[in-house]
Amino acid sequence: MGERFKDKVVVVTGAGQGFGEQFSKDFLAEGAKVAMLDIQVDKVKETAARLDPSGASTLAGEIDVSDPDSVKKAFEKVYQEFGHVQVLVNNAGITRDAMFHKMTLDQWDQAVKVSLYGTFYCSKEVIDDMRDQEYGRIINLQSMALAGNIGQTNYGAAKAGIGGLTKSLAKEVGRKNITVNGIAPGLMNTDIVKTVPEDILKQQIAAIPMQRMGEPEEASAAVLFLASEEAGYISGQTLFINGGLY
Ligand code: ADP
Repeated sequence: MGERFKDKVVVVTGAGQGFGEQFSKDFLAEGAKVAMLDIQVDKVKETAARLDPSGASTLAGEIDVSDPDSVKKAFEKVYQEFGHVQVLVNNAGITRDAMFHKMTLDQWDQAVKVSLYGTFYCSKEVIDDMRDQEYGRIINLQSMALAGNIGQTNYGAAKAGIGGLTKSLAKEVGRKNITVNGIAPGLMNTDIVKTVPEDILKQQIAAIPMQRMGEPEEASAAVLFLASEEAGYISGQTLFINGGLY
């Protein structure tokens, strides 16, 4: 077990499964206390109990990142139980795919509210605490949808919006020793890949210079790096983890 995040409190949203689970696992392995928040409360409790059977280093809580009251309540619990927060990973997200000419306002709103508004609400909850500490790391999940994805105008707009928030917030809080960065994973070997037909997956992989999907661990390594002391002079950036695709 490493010690890179000893004495650090990390909040991961959407921590019940997928990337959020992977990030939580890797932060725990490096000594962090991890507040694992998710809208699926039973799922995140189960995941936290699996990653940290003693429960000493995790807190599993309910959050709907698209609802400011729910966000406030969730962070109150984090501050009560863990104290100051040094790292926030804005990972919770949903897709509501549809071709643009068929996209409903509801699909648009849902994708934007969870990803973009969620990132805004959660970052608001930590920014005063990080400013007081004169230390903080915010890492925002973006996506290969930044390059354009068919059926994802809503998701792509939200993820690009997060890029704008990241750059501007980084400029505001740099003087307080807070960094704000994003990662944009490409085609990754997560559950979602199981739903892609084999021939389409093969075509997608053929277009990737590295000729393979990325592994969740490879996205997580980037998140942990951006959250680490070593990355203290990197801010306002988005790191693309896509095997050289673009
Ligand atoms: P990925 O492959 O990007 O990890 P998943 O869909 O597997 O995608 O994981 C996203 C996580 O975000 C899930 O655990 C899901 O429950 C969570 N999530 C979705 N919407 C919200 C929300 N409004 N608030 C908090 N967590 C959410």
